[in-house]
Order: sequence, then C-alpha cells, then structure tokens
Amino acid sequence: MDAVIRQRRADPGEERRRLLAELGEEIQAPSQMTYGSQAAAASQVFEQQRDLALRERAEQHLALVDAALERLDDGSYGACLRCGKPIAPERLEALPWAAHCIACQSDLDKGRR
Ligand SMILES: [Zn+2]
Repeated sequence: MDAVIRQRRADPGEERRRLLAELGEEIQAPSQMTYGSQAAAASQVFEQQRDLALRERAEQHLALVDAALERLDDGSYGACLRCGKPIAPERLEALPWAAHCIACQSDLDKGRR
C-alpha cells in the first residue's frame, strides 16, 4: 500500500525546511527595547507576544512535521495513529504531516480521545 502513498505524497521535509527558516528569525530580546514612550513600549510588547504566538504555532507544526518524517522512516507513514486505518491520500496531499484520518481528527477536534 505504501508504494502508492510514497509516490503521491507531498514532501514533509520541504515544509520542515520552511518552518526552520521561519523559526530561525529570532525574536528581539526585551532588553533591546529602547523606545521612551509607553505607547511604543506597549506596541512592542504586543508585537513580541504576537511573534511568540506565531513561533509557538510554528514549533507545534514543526513537531508534527518531525513526527511525520519519523513515521516515513519507520514505515508507518500514512496510517492513522488512532485507529490504524490508512489516511486518505487526498488528506495526505493537503496535510503531509497529518497523523490521523479524517474521522479520528474530527473526533479529536470535538475533544474525544
Ligand atoms: Zn483514524
């Protein structure tokens, strides 16, 4: 089964390189804050929090991509981690790092485990 999936899959490694490049852009340390006015300071804090949120999301995404690459290595790629059934190829094309089939993902999104 995975010969087909391997041919059709998008490359999670590509996404990983993109994320790493994104994470490589360091957030400015607060000590570099030199603005005098409180408004400027507040807007800088806001920007830092926004950057942090983006960074956190990128890191979570990177963890998913890394896990997908590990599954490629150990041959379990393309199988749902929850029910073990194959994940639809269309889903893997859209989300190469998907770890769950659509049915399980929808359960998980509803908070069911
Ligand atoms: Zn499943």
